[in-house]
Amino acid sequence: MAHRKSQRPAPKRAIFAHDPLTGRTAEVRAIQPHAAQKPYRCPGCRQEIAPGVGHVVVVPLADASERRHWHTACWENRATRPPGW
Ligand SMILES: [Zn+2]
Repeated sequence: MAHRKSQRPAPKRAIFAHDPLTGRTAEVRAIQPHAAQKPYRCPGCRQEIAPGVGHVVVVPLADASERRHWHTACWENRATRPPGW
């Protein structure tokens, strides 16, 4: 009888990235649509992230109060589309 590999879901690992706004290493967390209950201003495009829209929050390790909410696409394109800070 073949031994079936257990299909446990992989543990959620934190994703770390360089945050261009603060110049610091930041933790990137996905915000699910149901968890997005307030509008946020995306620093990438300076447009609003509407409530109910899944996005990412970028939390500098050194100072969580400097966290910023980004559209997922804006964050992924942060290197190629300078938002003109
Ligand atoms: Zn954006």
